[in-house]
Amino acid sequence: MKLSISLLTVIIASGLFIASCANKNQLSDKQSVGAVSKQDWAIVIHGGAGAMSTENLSPELDREYRAALTDALNAGKKILAEGGTALDAAEQTVRLMEDNPLFNAGKGAVFTHEGRNELDAAIMDGSNLAAGAVAGVTDIRNPITAARTVMTNSPHVMLTGAGASQFAKEQGLEIVPPSYFYTDRRFNELQEVLKRDKNGTVGCCALDRQGNLAAATSTGGMTNKRYNRIGDAPIIGAGTYANNNTCAVSATGHGEFFIRWTVAHDISALMEYKGLSLKEASELVVNDKLVKAGGSGGVICVDRLGNVSMPFNSKGMFRGFATADGKEGVFIFRDEAGMR
Ligand code: ASP
Repeated sequence: MKLSISLLTVIIASGLFIASCANKNQLSDKQSVGAVSKQDWAIVIHGGAGAMSTENLSPELDREYRAALTDALNAGKKILAEGGTALDAAEQTVRLMEDNPLFNAGKGAVFTHEGRNELDAAIMDGSNLAAGAVAGVTDIRNPITAARTVMTNSPHVMLTGAGASQFAKEQGLEIVPPSYFYTDRRFNELQEVLKRDKNGTVGCCALDRQGNLAAATSTGGMTNKRYNRIGDAPIIGAGTYANNNTCAVSATGHGEFFIRWTVAHDISALMEYKGLSLKEASELVVNDKLVKAGGSGGVICVDRLGNVSMPFNSKGMFRGFATADGKEGVFIFRDEAGMR
């Protein structure tokens, strides 16, 4: 019964989307930007999915989040418009969000059950399937840069904990005391939700002028996590995936489901093996498979033509996109339509 109600909601919401997209420059929650011809470049970002609504997000925070998403998007846009690589755009955009305490990544990361911050991040190059990830790190200021360094300067894909820190130090990355990640807001949140886990994360997917795709995701994981739990973000194929033949995907949500349903790779596989479009594949995984499984969250993705899709099955998802033809927008809630 609960399921059929959610399916009904999805169907009704899809109908509303079609109706609201009469204006080409408008997008709604089912955002999918269909490229008529190939885009020179495209970028899509998220700042976490969750239970945010107009009732529980103050106007001030709403403004702050939209400004932060816009800043991050602008940084990535600039890199891509000037001919920079998708990898640079993805890394730099995520770095900006890591440094912003509003997001659950880098500074502002959520707390573990024990009151620590343990960070996960991954990056993937769609041109050659190179990938790098760090998990459970406590003192690397920008985990996404550490992930990229693992990709480029080590023979491995994923490093964890103390080993990852040692590698980052040897590579000359910025190391900070674990207290750097402390924010009152997140600590108080832990106290409030010790029994009720909470979501939030950042990610970026980009297509560059050379036709290459890249995906990057960074997170503090889930509030109140225990036992060195690692989520989907740093796991290639679960929370992060990029392949020039199909798409780039970055996920946010209840990581355990995204790992078990290999969400990011499933979207790519549906395109590769079944010939689905980016929109069809991402909607199927997020609003059908994950809904049936009970896994809340969403994804942002871009394909090799510059089509962008950002489906989610939670109440809201901080998100934004921009494409070379001048379309762009940032959004938070489910039923938003139109430009900023
Ligand atoms: N997916 C992340 C995790 O499970 C959390 C999130 O996106 O909010 O670690």
